[in-house]
Amino acid sequence: MLQNTVSQSRRSFLSRTGQLTTAAAVAGLAGGVGREARAAPGNCLVGETVNVKETHYLLSDVRLEEGFEKDAAIVVATSTALYTLEIKDGKIAALHPKGAALPQGLPTYAADGQLALPIMRDMHIHLDKTFYGGPWQAPLPRQGKTIMDMIALEEKLLPTLLPTSVERAEGLIALLQSKGSTIARSHCNIDPVSGLKSLEHLKLALDKHKDDFVCEIVAFPQHGLLHSKVDGLMREAMQMGVDYVGGLDPTNVDGAMEKSLDAMFQIALDTGKGVDIHLHETSPAGVAAITYMIDTVEKNPALKGKVTISHAFALTTLNSGALEETAVRLAANGMSIASTVPIGGLMMPLPQLSKAGVFVMTGTDSVIDHWSPFGSGDMLEKANLYAQLYRGSDEYHLSRSLAISTGGVLPLDDKGNRAWPKVGDEAGFTLTRASCSAEAVARLPVRSATFHKGRLVSGGVDKVSS
Ligand SMILES: [Zn+2]
Repeated sequence: MLQNTVSQSRRSFLSRTGQLTTAAAVAGLAGGVGREARAAPGNCLVGETVNVKETHYLLSDVRLEEGFEKDAAIVVATSTALYTLEIKDGKIAALHPKGAALPQGLPTYAADGQLALPIMRDMHIHLDKTFYGGPWQAPLPRQGKTIMDMIALEEKLLPTLLPTSVERAEGLIALLQSKGSTIARSHCNIDPVSGLKSLEHLKLALDKHKDDFVCEIVAFPQHGLLHSKVDGLMREAMQMGVDYVGGLDPTNVDGAMEKSLDAMFQIALDTGKGVDIHLHETSPAGVAAITYMIDTVEKNPALKGKVTISHAFALTTLNSGALEETAVRLAANGMSIASTVPIGGLMMPLPQLSKAGVFVMTGTDSVIDHWSPFGSGDMLEKANLYAQLYRGSDEYHLSRSLAISTGGVLPLDDKGNRAWPKVGDEAGFTLTRASCSAEAVARLPVRSATFHKGRLVSGGVDKVSS
């Protein structure tokens, strides 16, 4: 009992340490603060908490899901068991059941019965422009403001953000890691005010984290591809390691739906990249844009499987027949949807899209910036929102909701067979004090440690032997 109490307070200390590390990264002091503080209290318990430096080690007492428990046909609980994970060269080399003979002589860390969840993916974030890590600043009132007003605001704001944008991006990366995400897709402004500077800064930040964070970049013409005349800049960006051509509301911002989308797709076709467009339009023009994009991908097989529509609010305006038809066409062309799982007036038809075979991803978008101050950077919270919005409060549906946060990777498949982790998988997971993924989705417990390709990248674990 005493051990438990100490252990709990130590755990809450570790979660605070995570915040310290975040603050340190923002201040450009990553490293020292977190590590020193972490080693201080409670390490007489089972061992010493240190960074995992080895490439071949054991992590004991990891809780993994084994199957569903049913009452008649209803899933009422999830069964789990403790395993020792053997991690080698970034991969899961073996899953040793409790009590099995373990390879001798390997350094061993203790997960202390915590549940492992698959690594989470923040597939829509703007790491390049954020207030995160700076002084508190609420967005200006949005009532009556159009996207064109926001663009005018950005023209003034961007030069004030650029001097700290590398440190702030690193702070956001640390925040995401502390919540269990080490894979992301970041949009990055390409506009006449910041030119390619936002992209250069983002690349500097990502370069510092190339071993602990994987991030695709979307070149995002936030001030309108045609409106701000950035076709040339966008093409330059494509030569700088960008993965996707971005776009923005072709009717409301560029005032020429087909011309704007044609220009966006042409850059993608000329450079062999994919597309990820911000489409907020809810008017019939938004629906027309989606249809036009599907038509374009159909005509250009090179784009198949490489186009994402972010937000896609226009899908909320379709009746069920039109939605079904659109979803089937999106799926047939490998087009995905990135949604922040919005709450309020717009109820995105995400389950209907998934059911039709459309790959649905989620992301933070804003953590704190001039658009919104409410982001937590926590993808598990998106699964929680999904479960709340789409009536998923039972054990089975809670467990399924996790898929939106993990790129579809779930500990158990729909029938209850273990699907993750498997020997040979990349060793990417986050540890949390929950009995199963359904509880984690519903209760959002603190993540105590995040591993990426076998490296501990956030939080801490106890070392029990070396
Ligand atoms: Zn966005």
